[in-house]
Amino acid sequence: MKQNNIILNGVAASAGVAVGKVFLLEEDVFSYSKSEITPDKIESEILRLENAIEKTREELESNKNELNKVLGKNYAKIADAHLLILKDSMIRDRVIDMIKKGNNVEYSVHKVVADLSKTFDLIDDEYFRERKHDLLNVAKKVLRNLLGKTKKTLSDLEEDSIIVAKNLTPADTVTMRENLVKGFVTEIGGKTSHTALVAQGLEIPAVVGLKDITHKVKQGMTIIVDGNLGLVILEPSEETIANYEREYEIQITNRRELEKLKDLPAVTLDGKEVVLGANIENSEEVKSALKHGANAIGLYRSEFMFLSRTTMPTEEEHFQSYSKVAKMMMPYDVIIRTIDLGGDKIAKLGLMDVAREENPFMGLRAIRFCLKYPEIFKAQLKGILRASVYGKLKIMYPMISRVSEIQEANKILEQAKKELIQEGKPFKNDIEVGVMIEVPSAAIISDLIAKEVDFLSIGTNDLIQYTMAVDRVNADVAHLYTPMHPAILRLLKQIIDSAHEAGKDVGMCGEMAGDPAYTIVLLGLGLDEFSMSAVQIPKVKKIIRTVTRQKAKNLVDNLLKCYTIKEFDTVMKKFKYM
Ligand code: PEP
Ligand code: MG
Repeated sequence: MKQNNIILNGVAASAGVAVGKVFLLEEDVFSYSKSEITPDKIESEILRLENAIEKTREELESNKNELNKVLGKNYAKIADAHLLILKDSMIRDRVIDMIKKGNNVEYSVHKVVADLSKTFDLIDDEYFRERKHDLLNVAKKVLRNLLGKTKKTLSDLEEDSIIVAKNLTPADTVTMRENLVKGFVTEIGGKTSHTALVAQGLEIPAVVGLKDITHKVKQGMTIIVDGNLGLVILEPSEETIANYEREYEIQITNRRELEKLKDLPAVTLDGKEVVLGANIENSEEVKSALKHGANAIGLYRSEFMFLSRTTMPTEEEHFQSYSKVAKMMMPYDVIIRTIDLGGDKIAKLGLMDVAREENPFMGLRAIRFCLKYPEIFKAQLKGILRASVYGKLKIMYPMISRVSEIQEANKILEQAKKELIQEGKPFKNDIEVGVMIEVPSAAIISDLIAKEVDFLSIGTNDLIQYTMAVDRVNADVAHLYTPMHPAILRLLKQIIDSAHEAGKDVGMCGEMAGDPAYTIVLLGLGLDEFSMSAVQIPKVKKIIRTVTRQKAKNLVDNLLKCYTIKEFDTVMKKFKYM
């Protein structure tokens, strides 16, 4: 065997590494010809089309049920998207038109879909462009049914394998024998591709967007997938294989170790317990939060309910969604952040003109949007209030930059309560109200803000970008986006101290809270609650259980003396070996 260590760079879609044999999922290659049909055949060709569509619909429905069972409702929506395409009368009518013009059905399907997929290529938005593959997948299924072919599926897997494919459809992934899949590699896809979503859900390493990979590998050859770095290594040397096998073993041991922590408290060696919460974007994610040992939902990004739709969610929809989460999380707290539309969460919003701003991160975002459209805000507040009787909900306003915004928002909250009383709908009158501290002005007046609210939660993702004037989504300035900066450390200290002086709890729900590198610093600063993406919880918990508060405070005292990030690094390194 040649041992060249050929390294290919793709997109890191799901963390972890794996060494394994390639299972090449071949593309359907159908041969069909273009032929003309006589008028007396038109009706039977249309009937063939209808039958193939019906058969495909049955397959997709059963696929959807499987997805629901294996991965949950969120993933079943992927099959829903395919069903919607199948039901699209515009596509069907165009195919029938072509048949009526004398073309055979196979060619008609192929031509209509090929034309449509060209228009997808012109779309600017990556998410919508990705949907072209949904269309092609559905078309392929219809063609397969027209031709009466069957396909090799992942249920044919017999040994541990790394799946290599042009694209992996939901249908592919549900039929696979999950425990035999060690990794995914696909030609198509970005971070939001279905393969990436499914792989993350299953915690299987994946690299996507690797052009031509299906032509570079052969069935059964050994390759390495590095989902941490977004690499695939072909023809790995024995030494490389040994290194990655070692890393894989460490990964498995770490995972097992971390699983053991699930039911243990996040408590320091000297007995200070902190709350570890999960950040979620929809109610489906509660399962994963609980699986990873979350003791709260520290941030429900409720604006995700508004994305990718053209109508506003109703009070009832808000109520349904929040009451579900409240019940599932009992007896733990759930912080519902009121809508934070704007900034980067706007591209897929088909609601109103808020996207057309010169500078959306500093524009009509979050609480500013809500105060401008009080009816949208009130519908959400009423939904939260009604759901509050089913669990322990709290309300949190995002992007507060001055005290008056809290007062105005509270006025709308009072109106919402009044209306619910008139409508005879029950709610918890003493529901706690807090704010996010993510704008520098709010951090600077956190002493004033702390007196107005029940709790504070620090949004470092925005606080860092606004404090240091570094766009959080701009790769060119990513090196300047440094949580470990003397300014950030001082601001965090100021916020946490202000909250405590006012007798209020303070949490953090920005990414910094879930990064194990900062856990001890945040502990030393006195943070009460850490909220993060669910998979990070065990890692952070492990660290909390290894230190005393005093040791963490000493670290912070030393860091506060530093002038530069380099000095920070030296102090942090020294601490590790102490
Ligand atoms: C933050 O800004 O830190 C935060 C948690 O909110 P988002 O990332 O949704 O802006
Ligand atoms: Mg934010």
